[in-house]
Amino acid sequence: MIQTLDTDFEGYLTDTSNLDGGYADRVYLPETEEEVGEILRKCSQEKTAVTIAGAGTGLAGGSIPFGGVVLSLAKLNRIIEINKEKGLAIVEAGVVLYNLHREVESQGLLYPPDPTEQGGQLGGNFATNASGARTFKYGPTRDWITGAHVFLSSGEMLALSRNGNRANRYSMSVESVNRTIYDIEIPRYQMPPTSKHSAGYYAKPNMDLLDLFIGSEGTLGVVTRLALKLIRKPERLFSGIVFFESNERIFGFVDEIRERSKKNRISDTPDLNARALEFVDAHALEFIKESYPSIPENANGGAIWFEQEREEASEELLISHWAEVIERYTDLSDDSWFGLSEKDQQRMRTFRHAIPSSAYEFIKAHQVQKFGTDMAVPDNCFHDMYRFYRDELDRSGLRNLTWGHIGNSHLHVNMLPENQTQIAQAQRISDRFVTKALQLGGTVSAEHGVGKIKTKYLKQMYGEEGIEQMRKVKRALDPTAILGRGTMFR
Ligand SMILES: Cc1cc2nc3c(=O)[nH]c(=O)nc-3n(C[C@H](O)[C@H](O)[C@H](O)COP(=O)(O)OP(=O)(O)OC[C@H]3O[C@@H](n4cnc5c(N)ncnc54)[C@H](O)[C@@H]3O)c2cc1C
Repeated sequence: MIQTLDTDFEGYLTDTSNLDGGYADRVYLPETEEEVGEILRKCSQEKTAVTIAGAGTGLAGGSIPFGGVVLSLAKLNRIIEINKEKGLAIVEAGVVLYNLHREVESQGLLYPPDPTEQGGQLGGNFATNASGARTFKYGPTRDWITGAHVFLSSGEMLALSRNGNRANRYSMSVESVNRTIYDIEIPRYQMPPTSKHSAGYYAKPNMDLLDLFIGSEGTLGVVTRLALKLIRKPERLFSGIVFFESNERIFGFVDEIRERSKKNRISDTPDLNARALEFVDAHALEFIKESYPSIPENANGGAIWFEQEREEASEELLISHWAEVIERYTDLSDDSWFGLSEKDQQRMRTFRHAIPSSAYEFIKAHQVQKFGTDMAVPDNCFHDMYRFYRDELDRSGLRNLTWGHIGNSHLHVNMLPENQTQIAQAQRISDRFVTKALQLGGTVSAEHGVGKIKTKYLKQMYGEEGIEQMRKVKRALDPTAILGRGTMFR
């Protein structure tokens, strides 16, 4: 008997975006893959819309239903295998990221993707191609998926493995476990050259079919099981939160660390090689100052949180390299925070997480809207983009705070308008930000996905023709159009 909720399921009608008005007839809570297939077969026959729900930490409204039913993966939450020798984990899609990290790390292993929010499910991370601080070194979720079970809306299952099914230029065929053949035409648009990208279907000639489903935001299939790559957990870390007096100096520092880290990825010398490089602006520091009174008064340029993996033998040399660069770019090095112990490092991660989560709490408590960006631009355009953000924000007089993944030239600029006039103003500014990012060759979403709130931006990015090519992919895999209605495109 499949578990369902027919009343009292408000929690499934929202996520962390501002989108409200969600409604549904029922929530399904399958406990096995067979049940997922059964639900989809039934919904397909009845043409009932299905919205797939992970943990609901998404920021784009993808898991919010507008009619039909919700299919929650919460009960498919087993870690099936962790294989140390092969560096492999097999998990069900409803496993919460935090639980996976805790489990693999207790065995001396590391699953590198680390979205700031650890309460999301692996299936949600797969569906949004989530990224985190360590993406600077290790890439997004996509790079760590080696296989998946995906259920199509027909109820049939695809068993996918990395390199198991590649396109021939722009066309590919895939056979389900039940031997139905699906023919797919790969879209021909060019994805942006940014180091992170999570907007629209992944599309490249000769691509791997697995990549089409990663980042497809619950519009092509339900992922139920994942195979993940693991690596050895680094021996130790060196990390810090460094405060700066001015923007010029903080960005000079970032440029140098970014370039040296990229160069040193392929070298064995113990030099700067950050795995995380994250920015917090002065407004965001102000926002959490009450909880962190030791933030220096004159940190007007903001702060950088960094992490680097290290080995005991080369520790001193490495720290001296960091000290040299830090002292060259800031007079606040003595007021900055550094950590060699796990406890200190965890404190710094908590500090970084406190910024978005305090902002979301503030929004809830004060019933204000938030306009947040998720664009990334190519590294050589970052300064241009940041100047544009700053000029617009300073001119607007709106309350704002910015944080994010500066190593990947990807910031979350957040505006908190307080009345209807300001809301309209924030909307116009958001539109201008998107246009500027696209002019610079950027993406409209680097990690949160398009969901239901950025569909117009996706269209702006790829044009009607690009959207039509995506619709064609969807028609091939979801001919009854029941999955993720209203997400990505209409
Ligand atoms: C404080 C905070 C910080 C955050 N920081 C980051 C960050 O650093 N990086 C980042 O990438 N994101 C971040 N996020 C956003 C969010 O955590 C991610 O988007 C996450 O991947 C969503 O996972 P979820 O399980 O909550 O998915 P949900 O919100 O439930 O769903 C997201 C989308 O995935 C689809 N989906 C979910 N499960 C499946 C499945 N099994 N099969 C098919 N489709 C599915 C849904 O239909 C929906 O379209 C943050 C969120 C918060 C609240």
